Amino acid sequence: MKITILFFSIFLFSTSSMAQNIDFETFFEDKSLRMDYLIAGSSEASTVFFKQFKEEPFWGGSTKNMIDKFNLGDYRILMRDSASGKLLYTRGFSSLFYEWQDTEQAKITERSFYESVVMPFPKQTVHLKIQVRDNENKFVDLYQTYANPTNYFVVKDKCDKYKVLKIHNSGNHHKKLDVVILPEGYTKAEMGKFKDDCERFVDYFFEVEPFKSNKNKVNFWAVNAPSEESGTDIPGSGVWKNTILNSNFYTFGIERYLTTSDINSVRNLAAYAPYDQIYILVNTSKYGGGGIFNYYNLCGSNIRSAREVFTHEFGHAFAALADEYAYGSTKAEDLYNLEVEPWMVNISTLADFDLKWKDLVENDTPIPTPNSSAYKNKVGAFEGGGYVAKKIYRPSDNCKMKSNSTNNFCPVCYRAVYELLLFYSE
Ligand SMILES: [Zn+2]
Repeated sequence: MKITILFFSIFLFSTSSMAQNIDFETFFEDKSLRMDYLIAGSSEASTVFFKQFKEEPFWGGSTKNMIDKFNLGDYRILMRDSASGKLLYTRGFSSLFYEWQDTEQAKITERSFYESVVMPFPKQTVHLKIQVRDNENKFVDLYQTYANPTNYFVVKDKCDKYKVLKIHNSGNHHKKLDVVILPEGYTKAEMGKFKDDCERFVDYFFEVEPFKSNKNKVNFWAVNAPSEESGTDIPGSGVWKNTILNSNFYTFGIERYLTTSDINSVRNLAAYAPYDQIYILVNTSKYGGGGIFNYYNLCGSNIRSAREVFTHEFGHAFAALADEYAYGSTKAEDLYNLEVEPWMVNISTLADFDLKWKDLVENDTPIPTPNSSAYKNKVGAFEGGGYVAKKIYRPSDNCKMKSNSTNNFCPVCYRAVYELLLFYSE
């Protein structure tokens, strides 16, 4: 009996030390290093062009969980200590450019996008590598460089122009999931409305599980930064507003898709608070939103179904969840390699369902699962999701990643969100 216990303790110790043997204080200062770059290309290929390093005053992330264990995102950043080669930090993320690469425009023209990645600030020179998914969803090298933190070209801007509000405070930001809310299209006279909106949306957030039962694992911050004009750009209606984060509807020609390509302004404003997630609240009543994994969330503040949309977008940006609905006439083959599983946790090609949510499916539920009332409240593999009607499967009849008619995550999405919540709040 004793031997068994000893065996297990050694086993547990060795696996946990493999994953967690990075002492934050040895390798990092308690602030952020930001790398900005331009990424340019077409649907076929892309190239990264370095822009700048910036030092930002806070590190909002964990000081314990440095290595990303989730294998999510279209890209990932890897940071190694230059002298020893030791892996210090990794994180998956997605981007607006990567989404653009799936558009018709990307097949006929090339474009460039401003992008940025934020990581803890190293004490010594580090090697940075950005990797991107290949056609089989494996990460391959895209860009590499060194960052010397003592170089005088690392830009230091002050963050003293705007007031920062604590909307929901649970304590030490290294041990909490920190969300910074940025106001877009709120004038100086509307700053009171912005604060009221923040409080209303944080209430919406905590109506949804697993957030509802874990209020003490989350902080919400807000930066009090007014825009010159109220609202946002609606290019399809000829509406143009002078706003602080330059957001717009009609992204990639989709009317309700609300985004901004002004990543420099977004990051500069977010740097006022410690954060893991950026939420841009857009002062508009026109229906729309957007969420890109470890990049940003946007939601219109006065829209119908605001309660449901707010956490739907957070599902994208926080847990990389795919939309579980079909959209337009896109074919599965145009968006997915059907020979492999998509990396998003809540859609499947059924190419290797064991890798997905099979463990949550009851033995008597058939795969694929018929769209019948018998399986309405079961976990299965229902055809239609990830923007296509055929050959891509979703876990549940309904989910907040599918429609606004429910405000709950399905069990698969719930699990993904909950695991990430723990990762950011340990
Ligand atoms: Zn779901």
